[in-house]
Amino acid sequence: GPMRDWLSHRVAATPDRRALIHAPTGDSWTFRELDGLVTETAGQLAALGIEAGDHLGVVLDPGIDYVRLIHAATRLGAVLVPLSERLTPDEIRRNIEIADVTTLVCGESTESTAVEATTDVPVVSVDEPHWEGVINLSAIAPKRISPAGWTLSETMLLLFTSGTTGTPKAVRLTMGNLLANAVAGSFRLGLSPDDRWLVTLSLHHMGGIGPILRSPLYGTTIVLREGFDAGGAADDIGKYDVTGVSLVPTMLTRMLDSRGTLSDSLRVVLLGGAPASDELIERCRNYSVPVYPTYGMTETASQVATATPREAFSAVGTVGRPLFFTDLSVIGEGGFIVEPGTPGEIVVSGPTVSPGYYRNPDATAKAFTDEGLRTGDIGYRDEDGLLYVLNRKDDRIITGGENVDPGEVVEVLRQYPAIDDAVVLGIPDSEWGERVSALVVPSDPDISLDRDALDTFCREQLAGFKVPRLVETADELPRTVSGTVDREAVREQLEAARP
Ligand code: ATP
Ligand code: MG
Repeated sequence: GPMRDWLSHRVAATPDRRALIHAPTGDSWTFRELDGLVTETAGQLAALGIEAGDHLGVVLDPGIDYVRLIHAATRLGAVLVPLSERLTPDEIRRNIEIADVTTLVCGESTESTAVEATTDVPVVSVDEPHWEGVINLSAIAPKRISPAGWTLSETMLLLFTSGTTGTPKAVRLTMGNLLANAVAGSFRLGLSPDDRWLVTLSLHHMGGIGPILRSPLYGTTIVLREGFDAGGAADDIGKYDVTGVSLVPTMLTRMLDSRGTLSDSLRVVLLGGAPASDELIERCRNYSVPVYPTYGMTETASQVATATPREAFSAVGTVGRPLFFTDLSVIGEGGFIVEPGTPGEIVVSGPTVSPGYYRNPDATAKAFTDEGLRTGDIGYRDEDGLLYVLNRKDDRIITGGENVDPGEVVEVLRQYPAIDDAVVLGIPDSEWGERVSALVVPSDPDISLDRDALDTFCREQLAGFKVPRLVETADELPRTVSGTVDREAVREQLEAARP
């Protein structure tokens, strides 16, 4: 039969434990207090006519109002559609059309964007509205409701992918997907009500919204920041005795740069979204940072495989083993499972895999096959079963008939002293098919890069066909809203610079 939302159950279990700490102010709420706010918010949304199955869009800065909306949607049985507050009105309009959003919730700083983005979708604000026609949520008298019942196959979240490979797709995540991933993730990380989890990632991706949505399940306390800054995030870990945090690798690098090391209250640093460099893993080893490199994606409600610190330090570069319930295979060109050590496409199956993209049968048919989810990521497993992620299938460069792994070229460029970071991809070329090209971030923006010296350096370590033919510089790498490198933007920049 159906189950109630997780917060309802948590209130019955540990009502007086802390549910949430707002990091900037130190204000906090117990599960009972949070439940009171959620009951009110759900009642107000119900009074506005929102009911089970409706698509509730949210474009809002991180804060207590976002947290109560997340749980209120679940309480009502509504589908939550988190949207990045960094999107333009046009992008929001496109996303609310893709996801059939029926009501859009905003706040003070996102209200004008929300108004500009919508024509016939009602806009509700959690703050005093400034625009005509926007509904003031706090002025609505709550209606009495009883918690919705959820079955495992019902959609709880429509979450947009980062759009690294093109237009973002709205992934359907069911109660079953989220529950399976939460249970398996918690088995791996050993989460308990004594954990305090710092949320500093954006709330429109699993890395940010996942811990909040699931905190009532684990009984963990959420320490919520209003975004990311390296020093501030590192300081909050010490200030609030934080035990766990999810970060993308660049964030951790910046935190270590700014504060040297992190508070020893930390038990889990979950690192995902992009490859962690060997150098970063070495730093974690030297500073005893308990790093859990993870591999995951929106389509699997986050983690697919996660390494323990022991695995991370003894097999540098690994993302560990698949989570409980998850099956993972590596498939070669002919569709057959390859030998350990041989790279191929990573295919994932199990209860965490989404039923598909919302209203996008073409993309769904391509990725969600009978064998499992074709991730489009290339990786291999070693003899021990540990997984390594190399790059995306679409990223492989074929130049003059030779295959080039962009990751290998990136590693070499990063070793060059005058370069901090790099992206490598293939730009179409009439002679070579593709031409190996790089966008690099020089360590000192005031010193111009000596291309000849760089070329010589690369030739010492790479076969001639792998050496970048085109090298452009940038002050920083373009990133998607979730903080991963925006390869499409890099491609445009490099194509524009092509001689
Ligand atoms: P889109 O699907 O719209 O192109 P996206 O795939 O970047 O965007 P996400 O679901 O946010 O959107 O990201 C998942 C992807 O991130 C994975 O498929 C993989 O390519 C990459 N990724 C995640 N973790 C790692 C990791 N540890 N190492 C390398 N790549 C990773
Ligand atoms: Mg993807």
